[in-house]
Amino acid sequence: MAAPSKPAGAGNALPPVFTKLGLHTPADLILHLPLRYEDETRISAIADALPGRATQVQGVVTHCEAKYKPRRALIARIRDDSGGEISLRFINFYGSQAKQFAEGNLIRALGEVRGGFWGLEMVHPRYRVVSAEAPLPDSLTPIYPAAAGVAQTLLRRHIGAALTQADLTDTLPDSLRSRFNLPDFASSVRTLHNPPPDIPPAQLEYRTHPAWRRIKFDELLAQQLSLRLARNARRAQGAPMLAGEVALVTQLQNSLPFRLTAAQQRVWHEIRTDLAACHPMQRLLQGDVGSGKTVVAALAAAQAIGHGYQAAFMAPTEILAEQHYHKLTQWFAPLGIEVAWLAGSLSKKDKQAAVARLVSGEARLAAGTHALFQEQVEFANLGLAIIDEQHRFGVAQRLALRRKGNQPHQLMMSATPIPRTLSMSYYADLDVSVIDELPPGRSPVVTKLLADSRREQVVELVRERCRAGGQVYWVCPLIEESEKLQLQTALDTHAVLASALPELDIGLVHGRMNGRDKAVVMAGFKCGDLQLLVATTVIEVGVDVPRASLMVIEHAERMGLAQLHQLRGRVGRGSTQSACILLYQQPLSDAARARLKVIFENSDGFVIAREDLRLRGPGEFLGARQSGAPMLRFADIEADADILEQARAAAEWLLIHDGLAARNHVLRWLGGRQDYIKT
Ligand code: ADP
Ligand code: MG
Repeated sequence: MAAPSKPAGAGNALPPVFTKLGLHTPADLILHLPLRYEDETRISAIADALPGRATQVQGVVTHCEAKYKPRRALIARIRDDSGGEISLRFINFYGSQAKQFAEGNLIRALGEVRGGFWGLEMVHPRYRVVSAEAPLPDSLTPIYPAAAGVAQTLLRRHIGAALTQADLTDTLPDSLRSRFNLPDFASSVRTLHNPPPDIPPAQLEYRTHPAWRRIKFDELLAQQLSLRLARNARRAQGAPMLAGEVALVTQLQNSLPFRLTAAQQRVWHEIRTDLAACHPMQRLLQGDVGSGKTVVAALAAAQAIGHGYQAAFMAPTEILAEQHYHKLTQWFAPLGIEVAWLAGSLSKKDKQAAVARLVSGEARLAAGTHALFQEQVEFANLGLAIIDEQHRFGVAQRLALRRKGNQPHQLMMSATPIPRTLSMSYYADLDVSVIDELPPGRSPVVTKLLADSRREQVVELVRERCRAGGQVYWVCPLIEESEKLQLQTALDTHAVLASALPELDIGLVHGRMNGRDKAVVMAGFKCGDLQLLVATTVIEVGVDVPRASLMVIEHAERMGLAQLHQLRGRVGRGSTQSACILLYQQPLSDAARARLKVIFENSDGFVIAREDLRLRGPGEFLGARQSGAPMLRFADIEADADILEQARAAAEWLLIHDGLAARNHVLRWLGGRQDYIKT
């Protein structure tokens, strides 16, 4: 057998330091695109040089001296035919440099021109001694993302070699390129690595040049393709078919004290259709805080249980999980269905008992925290995994629960709505249902912003509200740096409010309490024994006490938008007019001011999420999901939403018409990183 042929001189080994930049192959180098460029293609007359601009000049050294006061510096002056003179200043210099600036030497220097005290100057310009005929390059000089020990010159050399040796074959069929009016891949990357000087600088700086469009398109296409391939792989797996009318579902529906809203009915229909299919559902149920996702999930659970399978309901915090447990018990126990409860705070004995009931299949439904997917937990036949507030879990955690059964269906829920561009990109592997309507009888929450100096007034408002029979949440400041301090603040707040409002029964919940104590306090608040609940942000997600109609949030300026929206969603669940008071401490940073403005002006979770994405960018917004989907290096899903739209259409077309091209495209862009998304 002949040895695999290698193109002559293809020095495949890259310098080991390149791995710091994630560069392992020549193909990686091709996609290591410049951050910016320097223009060395022309020389400006010194007389015309303008301060504030990067400029290349060339002139003869007229004078050079090393100064030692006030700081050590080497200063050389050069002059050109235009009669202009400029100083080149070096703060740290080598002795050899002084020699380069011998009077009469011709120097070519590139740097930012500044108007100094002694006239124009450049500080630490890039320079070299040249002969008069030294040729100018005919393309802009790329400046690459670099790392310690990786010089630009080294990158340029290897990238230049890769451009001549690596495979630049277009992965897009011509028809697709012409449909979206895209230049070919090879010329695009060549242009971006070595742009001709006549390209308008703004097209490079803002990455609007057709070559940039092509690169962003390719990147977004790779993301779309990989997510769709992952989705197709999932669809090739078998799952229990949970089709048809199930008596338990009807019974549950009939026992509810309310009718489903039209939106709830619609999403329930979508979910039921998924459950009836022979491959696992992977659906995200979105709905604003209070839109009634839990009952829809309960119907799905009933559908699975009615078919003889088990369902598991997982929530990110113990408070929320416990609340689900109570709700599910209230709904299912009268129908003869046992619910098991599993959380970290259970005693070993209780945990074992719960696990035993799940293994034997005696318990058809389980509610709990991530304790549900720990190793020792086994299900007799898990058919449906429900994950509440999915954005709070990492991908790995969600997968762990899925592995508990033989490909159970998966329903994820989130009240942090995913803006359209995100759901089109990072979430493209999920099916999405949206509850876009609140149950009837809710009144919008009035939001007030008050400086912390007015807290006494706020205490009075609390007094009045409770006297009128309402209940109040008081959320203590978030102190990210110190859990101890956070706890202390909660204790102090509780004590201060207790002495200011002696007539009230006041409860306290915080993150350091054990599950049982927390549950006792929450139950006291829920049944109305406690009128005021002082809490840390542990109550952020999902807590449901319809009689609570006032929420006070201290140091609202420290909290994120999603968090504020979630907290505010704890009120406005009953029929009384509810209010949310955001106390803030001055002075406000610009970012905090922007956040408070958004939460003050908007109540629609989708608008808030979009603003959140705009203020923070997708990296942070995605949080735990980051590790599950290929991150984008070049495209910006908001600014490049039009390209994203095209890439989506292209992905669909390619998967149907040209599977090989699709595969090659994903390989070029994601290479070894594909295994991220094989899940
Ligand atoms: P979320 O979507 O935030 O998880 P929940 O499922 O906790 O919301 O529902 C909020 C409250 O609304 C609960 O008390 C729930 O019982 C109630 N609810 C749900 N659906 C309806 C409905 N169709 N009509 C009236 N109340 C409803
Ligand atoms: Mg909920």
